Amino acid sequence: MLLVSIRMLVRGVAFYLESGLPCEAKLLLEDFRLAVNNAIRAGLQARVTSRNALAKLAYKDFRKEHPMMYSLHLLSAFGVAGSVLKNHRRRTRSVKMARVPFVKRLMMRVENQAYKLDRKSSIIDLAVRAGCHVHLKLVVSEYHRRYLDDTSLGLGSLTVLPDRVIVAFRKEEPRTYAPESVLSLDTNERSLDGVIVGPEVCVSVRADFPDVAIIQQLHHDRRKQLQKKKAHDERMSRMLCKREGRREHRRIDHRLHQVANAVVSIAETRRSAIVLEDLTGIRYKRSKDLNRRLSMWPRRKLHQIIEYKAQWRGIPVVKVDPRYSSRTCPICGRIQDSRMGTEFECECGWHLDRHINASLNLLQTAISNGLEVAGGLRFNPGAFQHDVMMTLYEPAMAARSEPNGTSGTCGVT
Ligand SMILES: [Zn+2]
Repeated sequence: MLLVSIRMLVRGVAFYLESGLPCEAKLLLEDFRLAVNNAIRAGLQARVTSRNALAKLAYKDFRKEHPMMYSLHLLSAFGVAGSVLKNHRRRTRSVKMARVPFVKRLMMRVENQAYKLDRKSSIIDLAVRAGCHVHLKLVVSEYHRRYLDDTSLGLGSLTVLPDRVIVAFRKEEPRTYAPESVLSLDTNERSLDGVIVGPEVCVSVRADFPDVAIIQQLHHDRRKQLQKKKAHDERMSRMLCKREGRREHRRIDHRLHQVANAVVSIAETRRSAIVLEDLTGIRYKRSKDLNRRLSMWPRRKLHQIIEYKAQWRGIPVVKVDPRYSSRTCPICGRIQDSRMGTEFECECGWHLDRHINASLNLLQTAISNGLEVAGGLRFNPGAFQHDVMMTLYEPAMAARSEPNGTSGTCGVT
């Protein structure tokens, strides 16, 4: 018998509640936090981190301390405590004096046997304890509807927060289609630039996100200012800087999701494989220029988002080594000594926008690495020398909703 391991994909979708959490649920959240923190302490003492070991260790005592709590919730608290402890253990390896972990915010993980979601009425039935259930009515947008109505999606765990819940939707990893075209993208600080090549299409493309770098710079400056202003109070300074950081991440994340949506939907309609550079090896030399270092994470994050969105929809993604991609001539193969200006020029007479040129090299590397396209891939590189450009995304698009409705993704975690 052939055993095929099927990977499950999970996507968390956040729902706000029509009316706030009922009182019983709030109390449950507090009990849950208490149980998690107790389990963390017990685990630290006994040096165990797995959920089962924690359960074996502490279940009896916990049953006494939390007599009213539903046992599935108690087990789930061990699970949350276990993951906190694992993170802590990892941290103590690098930092000697890591603080004893403690869950501060109110949250609760609910196993999928302990709640019911009625997909039509969008009401969650949550068991608090024997004989006591609460009903949570979810606020549902068109974006949420797509998940609720898709019966191929199973339900995983539920995360309850004071103002919202996160439902984990699960599905088997879809098989990737055989690509009919290729979308090759060079990732830059302020844009994705590249080409889309197939039997019916052969044009350069661009997704612009200049605001990401602007936001980074702005928050970077603000943190600098805060550190100066609060120099006398390190604790306050650290707290405010952290808050700035969270804001920055949220704002940038939102934009990156929109760019990724644009990329993924064009790839899906053209049945393209997406070619990206593999950024994992790239590291800037330790320099004083903080801006350079800062600018790396949005690009990695963008790739992450594109990859997981593509995986969810069965779009093949190929990552290639970007070495020399910005300095190689795709026509004659000569490698230039230094970086160009905005235009790549070669002694053989070839010239093209530097970024588009890099994406052509990425495309060639992907093909020589074995990327196959149904019907083969024939194109004339000269076609990209014209000024025709397909705009996949630009910041102005954020203002209006996209026609295919992919813009409402703020709930994706
Ligand atoms: Zn050349």
